[in-house]
Amino acid sequence: AKPVVAIVGRPNVGKSTLFNRIAGKRISIVEDQPGVTRDRIYAEAEWLNNVFTLIDTGGIEPESKETILSQMRNQAEIAIETADVIIFMVDGKEGLTGTDREVASMLRKAHKPVVLTLNKVDTVEHSPYYYDFFELGMDEPVEISSTAAYNIGDLLDAVVAHF
Ligand code: GDP
Ligand code: MG
Repeated sequence: AKPVVAIVGRPNVGKSTLFNRIAGKRISIVEDQPGVTRDRIYAEAEWLNNVFTLIDTGGIEPESKETILSQMRNQAEIAIETADVIIFMVDGKEGLTGTDREVASMLRKAHKPVVLTLNKVDTVEHSPYYYDFFELGMDEPVEISSTAAYNIGDLLDAVVAHF
């Protein structure tokens, strides 16, 4: 079976933007308000002859009245159950949050390959929060810009290395 790659991360970090970028089509809806992605969450993708299924976990419909944190827990659980590699996306403009720490601890316990991805790094400099993310105890973050399509190849190299 094809490997499954899931993108996990707080609302508004840029999951759907990356998903669309990798899928090469505007499948997942990108909105300026958090949590409004509603349509397609699966795409077939390919990188250097590696074909895989990509999942945007942000597009999974939340149960009504769920808090962001419990939505995140559900999404992380689904990713842990179904994915071979997890792209854990955080926001390089906003920095590390408590929710990021919670999700990181779930992912660490799952012992699945995780590629920590710092999005919204739109210039060649490191995110001002780059070093803060080392506290998550994961590999060195891969810094990308999903809107500027910067370093997406490096990210995908890191992902397919785990197949
Ligand atoms: P999601 O909720 O995680 O799926 O986030 P979206 O993909 O819907 O993006 C949320 C907002 O962040 C949108 O306004 C995007 O245009 C913006 N965004 C996504 N990626 C980047 C990026 O690399 N740089 C910047 N500056 N903005 C981004
Ligand atoms: Mg989304």
